[in-house]
Amino acid sequence: MGDVLASTLHMQATDNPAEADVLLVNTCSVREKAESKVFSLLGEWRLLKEQHPHLIIGVGGCVASQEGETLVRAAPQVDLVFGPQTVHRLPEMIADVRRQGRSVVDVSFPEIEKFDSLPAPRAEGPTAFLSIMEGCSKYCSFCVVPYTRGDEISRPFESVMREVHELAAQGVREITLLGQNVNAYAGPMDDGVCVDLATLIHHVAAVQGVERIRFTTSHPLEFDDSLIEAYANVPKLANHLHLPVQSGSDRVLAAMKRGYTALEFKARIRQLRQVRPDISVTSDFIVGFPGETDRDHEATMRLVRELDIDQSFSFLYSRRPGTPAAGLSDDVPHAEKQARLAALQQLLEDNATRRNQSMVGSRQRILVERTSRKDERELAGRTEDNRWVNFPIPAGVDPQQLLGRFLEVEITEAKRHSLRGRCVGAADTDG
Ligand code: SAM
Repeated sequence: MGDVLASTLHMQATDNPAEADVLLVNTCSVREKAESKVFSLLGEWRLLKEQHPHLIIGVGGCVASQEGETLVRAAPQVDLVFGPQTVHRLPEMIADVRRQGRSVVDVSFPEIEKFDSLPAPRAEGPTAFLSIMEGCSKYCSFCVVPYTRGDEISRPFESVMREVHELAAQGVREITLLGQNVNAYAGPMDDGVCVDLATLIHHVAAVQGVERIRFTTSHPLEFDDSLIEAYANVPKLANHLHLPVQSGSDRVLAAMKRGYTALEFKARIRQLRQVRPDISVTSDFIVGFPGETDRDHEATMRLVRELDIDQSFSFLYSRRPGTPAAGLSDDVPHAEKQARLAALQQLLEDNATRRNQSMVGSRQRILVERTSRKDERELAGRTEDNRWVNFPIPAGVDPQQLLGRFLEVEITEAKRHSLRGRCVGAADTDG
């Protein structure tokens, strides 16, 4: 169960389904694979329910919002179905199921009500995610998000800032501003004037204790000059940008209804690199969109090479019923799509490895987040460009004292997906 779900419910979370009174699965319907995993999990939970008839099974998130009542008909073991916008109503819904003894479905879009009733922020460590907007109004031809999550809606500015202050007071040092299109943020202030993401970043950076800011996920259409200005003038804004491009071919970008060309995307990244020359840029890619040719694919590979795109997400196109692209005919063989995906992933991996290697010998400022997963004599933290660094606990130092601190670490070795280093000193800016 996620942090928000656990605190919304005032219940103790458990990872063991056999000992739970309520089993919830939060779903994503962006790709078909995620959706089919949900149904196989529900099959396993049906067996548990046969042994414990009072067990309550709930499905939330995008699959829930897409399927609604149909989900209960397809899987009668499900007692409640809640959408991304109705998470906060869960306690009442569970009470209703117990009282009425029948399933409850609420996948409506009560918009702003959701932000009003999210639980008080509770930090679990030195980093936190803060949801500042929801939904998407871009209607890309491949994507279900506008239909499952509704149009873009921003959380009011004062409410975001209140939460930033509360998180900082709880010791949070790094905040990731979250939203499906986070750079479409237009948060109303009390006087009705709207604040954009760049302005919000300036305000968050002014909060004492917050030392590092990230935001995800952005859309290239709204990656404008104000954000480049923020990268130029806000040192607390991490040296990393995740900006999904999806394809490097103008023909495919137009069919996807992305609203920009490859050249426009490249120009934006080059402008950004004028103010942050060594910034890591990562992206999302969809391979095998209907009608994608070898030439289109080569354009994507070229974009990755030219912009030196770092570790990224790449997916095979997944046809989503109800989206405009679902009706497009597609004669590209599956094996060909997989070969293209493999080639793209190899190229991205090569770029990431080269960047890892180039960091050996450099000094990086990392935020210590936890004990290393593989060795408890080591600590782990992330660099500005989101790379994990494991390093030995310095002799004679209590590791608990280092959690949540910024340290300067010299990188000694590049692994495939992480780095190793040694601590060379403190790197907090506020003592
Ligand atoms: N703001 C992002 C953007 O600019 O598009 C959207 C993030 S989306 C929720 C996460 C990623 O899932 C997308 O960037 C895309 O690469 C992938 N995705 C979405 N729909 C997909 C589909 N039908 N098939 C394959 N991948 C998909």
